[in-house]
Formats: sequence, structure tokens, C-alpha cells
Amino acid sequence: MSNRLLQENVAENLAILNEKIAKASAMSLFKQDVTLIAVSKQQPIDKIRAALDAGHHHFGENRIQDALQHWPALKQIYPHVILHFIGHLQTNKISDAVQWFDAIHSIDNPSLAEKINDTCRETGKRPAIFIQVNTGNEPQKSGILPQNVDAFVHACQSMLYLNLRGFMCIPPLGIAPALHFGFLKQLAEQYSLPCLSMGMSSDFETAIQLGATHVRIGTAIFGEREGKT
Ligand SMILES: *Cc1c(COP(=O)(O)O)cnc(C)c1O
Repeated sequence: MSNRLLQENVAENLAILNEKIAKASAMSLFKQDVTLIAVSKQQPIDKIRAALDAGHHHFGENRIQDALQHWPALKQIYPHVILHFIGHLQTNKISDAVQWFDAIHSIDNPSLAEKINDTCRETGKRPAIFIQVNTGNEPQKSGILPQNVDAFVHACQSMLYLNLRGFMCIPPLGIAPALHFGFLKQLAEQYSLPCLSMGMSSDFETAIQLGATHVRIGTAIFGEREGKT
């Protein structure tokens, strides 16, 4: 596909999504502001640049080493970019994550939270932190189990440098996601946290109706990913 066509497609997809998001938010009980995170993992650089040139600021990546291949250079050209880390965070990648990312959506255990808190104290950087909840109790999935959320939130709230903002979930595949989104909304209210990262290409409108403030959308913007997911 020519560059020009690529650019038009990505820009058009973003425009359509922004409109759908605005509609879903207007129809939700909460009338919340919703941030569209363009999930650029495993997408070609030309498509990422097309989104940047269309004026989009928020991007999501799920692997630190992949993200560092292009975002430091792109941030020089597009300084207003806001980066969200949405994948499983390994301990040895914490300092890169805190240095390069404005938000981390996937905190799910106390030792990770403590190490991030230490890094925030040492660097003065304070990315927005989301606790990932394994709402479906799925053994293969990251996220803290629902029964451990209460203790974990309290532990995080006692960490002085941790900028705890809300919750994130990825509902199980192949079932209606609304119960999971509703559960996460309840948690946000219970702990008075403002942000909810939930909803992807296939279910973002449902997520917004149930209070999502951040939707993470990849394929509906950029098309199918290259290689593994
Ligand atoms: C890949 C990914 C997405 C985007 O999924 P799409 O179906 O392409 O919209 C959202 N959230 C997380 C955590 C992801 O890893």
C-alpha cells in the first residue's frame, strides 16, 4: 500500500473511532472523558507515523525492548507523545518503563509495586499506575486475583511515590465482557480511584458505557499485527 493510502486509512480509522467513543461516552451514565490509546505493538513504523501525523498523542506498547526501538527517536520529533505500557512488566525493565512511559497499566504484585515506588523516588518520575485485575481468575493471565485486590490497593496506597490512578482488566475471550467491566467500575468507586483502563477493538463501546476512561485499541486503527501477539 502506498504511504499516502496508509496515512489516510489510519487517520480515517482514528477519526471514526474518536466519533464512536464520543457517542458512547455521551450515552453512558458517567459522561466521562475517554482517552484513546492507540496500541502500536508489532505495527510498522509507517503506520505509527501516520497516526502521529494525524495528531494522535496516546500510544500503547506491551514490550519494553520493542518500544525502545522506535519511541525514543519518535519522541524527539513528536514531543507531545504520551506512552502507556500495557504488557507484563519484568523487574529488570522497571527503570526503562519509568523513564520512558507516562503510564503503566499492568501492576499486579506487591514486589513490583515496591520496586516501581523506589524507582519513582530515585528518578522523580511518577507515571500513572493502574492495577491489573485478573477478573476472570484465569491461571494463564497476568493480573492480581479479585480476592487479593483489597490488600494490594492498601499496600500501594501506603507507597509514597506510587501514583496510583486506577484499574485495568482484560476479560476472558469468548464471553460477554460487561460483568467484568462492571466489576472493575465498582472497584474504582470503592477505592475512589479515577481511572479505568478497559475495552479493546471489539468491546470498547461496552466498556465506555460501564465507565472506561482509557480504551486500548490496536487492530481497529492499524489493521492486523505483524507476527506474534
Ligand atoms: C494488544 C492489546 C490491546 C489491543 O488489542 P486490539 O484487539 O488490537 O484492539 C489492548 N490491550 C492489551 C493489554 C493488549 O495487549
